[in-house]
Amino acid sequence: MVMDGLGDRAVEELGWKTPLQAARRPNLNWYAENGANGLVDMIGPGIRPGSDTSHLAILGYDPRKVYTGRGPFEAAGTGVVGKKGDVAFRCNFATVDKNMLVADRRAGRIKEPDTTELVTAFDHLMIDDITITVKPATEHRAVLLLQGPGLSPHITDVDPHDEANVHEAKPMSPEAAKTAKVVNEFVRLSYQKLDAHPVNQRRKREGKPVANILLPRGGGVFPDIQPFPEKYGMSGSCIAGVSLIKGICRVCGLDIIEVEGATGGKDTDMKAKARAAIEELKRKDFVLMNVKAADITSHDGDAKAKVEVIERIDAMVGELRAGLGEEVVVAFVADHCTPIEMKDHSGDPVPLMIYCKGIVKDPVKQYDEGSAGQGSLSRIRGMDILPILIDKAGRAEKYGA
Ligand code: ZN
Ligand code: ZN
Repeated sequence: MVMDGLGDRAVEELGWKTPLQAARRPNLNWYAENGANGLVDMIGPGIRPGSDTSHLAILGYDPRKVYTGRGPFEAAGTGVVGKKGDVAFRCNFATVDKNMLVADRRAGRIKEPDTTELVTAFDHLMIDDITITVKPATEHRAVLLLQGPGLSPHITDVDPHDEANVHEAKPMSPEAAKTAKVVNEFVRLSYQKLDAHPVNQRRKREGKPVANILLPRGGGVFPDIQPFPEKYGMSGSCIAGVSLIKGICRVCGLDIIEVEGATGGKDTDMKAKARAAIEELKRKDFVLMNVKAADITSHDGDAKAKVEVIERIDAMVGELRAGLGEEVVVAFVADHCTPIEMKDHSGDPVPLMIYCKGIVKDPVKQYDEGSAGQGSLSRIRGMDILPILIDKAGRAEKYGA
């Protein structure tokens, strides 16, 4: 179980405790007392992880080898998974005038069902020998997938990131010339297809900004990732509300389990997630569950809300404790620290707890950033977590005779 952005630094408002230390957390502490504890540098000491790179590490992949940028993982979060060499971009639906001047980068924060209807304009689209797929993502966002020979993600952004003229994609290396040409043609076509679209005519009548162009940015190539079931000989599932986490897990070959009420927001139904994980473990060898809420309160800089969220997470942990069989190896970890003070991710290590039948208890009695380092797992890298869990589960192959 990954508690997103759970780790923190000492906060003055909380009497120089971390939100985790300030929260009532009987269930997490029960696990800490009965399990083995340690600290994790998700990527390396002092490296500030994104949620994407940290989840790759937790799944035992070296982010420095397989992370190719946010685009492909974001695309996979919406269900668009390309093969090695395919290129994905994040896009915004935006409003432009006739001179390609951006009036609204988010087209009035357009969302479903308008975006879902608009993307049908790109069904069965090919530009030269490249197959084009467009899928709506959250709110005004969409993803663009290019599939075909000779693609490269190394082009400049079309999105001007401001109310300025739409940029022309330029290749940053000679190999990217074809991709830049295809993307520029796609942007031109998007204006042509969307400006006159019935959804936009309706929006005009309703006085809403039209979404008459798609602006790609942040391209990335789909990496060559050995699927999780092949790499470990285990079936696996992911339970997460956040699209990017689903994308990471989908690219790694995990099944995505949708849980009603699991939104990835502060209002997410955590206990429903816990029940789903318990059920899923009856069918699968491995489940990764992500709970996002603590990270959101940190980005908001709201210490009190973070303490409350942690207490709700603890209640969910109680649900897991009651429902998981003794054959299950349980691990609790944060994917990174998100200090309230920084409102962003830091490179601090995060607490890890591993519990299973027969585990040798260490002296740690509480689950938090300060206590975990006194545990028997001491200080490891994110990539080390899964091999340890596999060994605890009796699934590790012997190295040597
Ligand atoms: Zn995260
Ligand atoms: Zn975050």
